Amino acid sequence: MGPGHLALGFAAKPATPKAPLWVLLIATEVLDLITFPLQALGIESFAISQVDLTNGLQLIKPAQMPWSHGLFMSILWSLIAAGIAFLVYRDRKTSGIIGMLVFSHWILDFIVHPPHLPLLFDGSPTVGLALWTSGPGFIFSIFLEIALLAVGISFYIASRKRKKVLQK
Ligand SMILES: [Zn+2]
Repeated sequence: MGPGHLALGFAAKPATPKAPLWVLLIATEVLDLITFPLQALGIESFAISQVDLTNGLQLIKPAQMPWSHGLFMSILWSLIAAGIAFLVYRDRKTSGIIGMLVFSHWILDFIVHPPHLPLLFDGSPTVGLALWTSGPGFIFSIFLEIALLAVGISFYIASRKRKKVLQK
């Protein structure tokens, strides 16, 4: 998934007053931020795919990204992020939400990606609900991302307005 991930960072802000918005937004993209340097080092690789409106996204070569997008490592990164957040904010709720935001990336990717997300490491079974792999599914996913972002941002703006009213 693309920018739709950020929606959850915006939506989580009202419930996470101790952490700044940028931290929550970065949390939703941690798995992608891990894969970029790993790809540069040749440890992971992007999928090669083609997209058209009839067949959606079709894989030519699946991604190899067990360290950033494997289910096991994603859970581990989420726990590590929660641990770091706890050291910084000394608050269980804040660190719990940050951990969940990191993991939310995997859930959203799981919904849209073709089944090439490994459960463990290379050679383990791979999963993905593959919303992207049909024309209508791919188009729906674009609307879904925009809708998610709109809802997340309006959540955030509404809570800021409420705060301002309370301050007056
Ligand atoms: Zn991703």
